[in-house]
Amino acid sequence: MSGEEAKVFVITGPSGVGKGTLIKMLRERVPDLALSVSATTRQPREGEEDGVDYHFLTEDQFQERIAAKDFLEFASYSGNHYGTLNSELDRCLAKGRSVVLEIEVQGATQVRAARPDSVQIFIAPPDPAVLRERLTGRGTDSAEAIDKRLKVAEQELGAQDDFDHRVVNDDLEAAANELESIVRSSVGGS
Ligand code: ADP
Ligand code: 5GP
Repeated sequence: MSGEEAKVFVITGPSGVGKGTLIKMLRERVPDLALSVSATTRQPREGEEDGVDYHFLTEDQFQERIAAKDFLEFASYSGNHYGTLNSELDRCLAKGRSVVLEIEVQGATQVRAARPDSVQIFIAPPDPAVLRERLTGRGTDSAEAIDKRLKVAEQELGAQDDFDHRVVNDDLEAAANELESIVRSSVGGS
């Protein structure tokens, strides 16, 4: 995708809908696409690496970065803070690479205001009931954490009409195809 206009893609949707899975497929299909590594105060899950999956910060460190105005956007989600560092975005865009932000809805709204040229994509479930099944199947969150995430999901689903694009993740392959086609047509400028 070199030689074309570098874009910021914001991919959001409720927890468990398949954002991470779809973004992994997207990056295999469009290798030049960079992924912004967010900062969070959440504890690392098993297998997650600092600087790769997230920049894991303490609450104090996160507050210092807010005070230093280091964030393009940040939000509180399910008891923890999450945010996109300006430096992450600049690092990718400076190389002329388009970049994907995988963030929740409040952050997406902030990016829309700060960067109206960003391409905003909401990943929706075919039925809200699949979110519990998928989160339980993923096996990374306690029953209590899943309940918290599903509460937030109700509000997030109510915001889907604010997005430029909506991709329903029912059949995984079909959703990945749709996402790839949105990204390719946006970068190509058509
Ligand atoms: P998110 O990043 O949105 O929280 P994940 O990508 O971690 O969601 O997906 C949650 C779980 O759902 C994972 O176990 C994943 O393998 C599964 N999953 C993703 N997409 C589908 C799909 N289309 N059909 C069935 N299961 C899916
Ligand atoms: P998780 O704890 O499952 O990794 O992420 C929880 C939620 O936080 C997901 O909806 C994810 O998209 C969102 N998230 C991850 N990074 C960021 C970020 O930098 N900013 C915002 N606003 N949300 C983020």
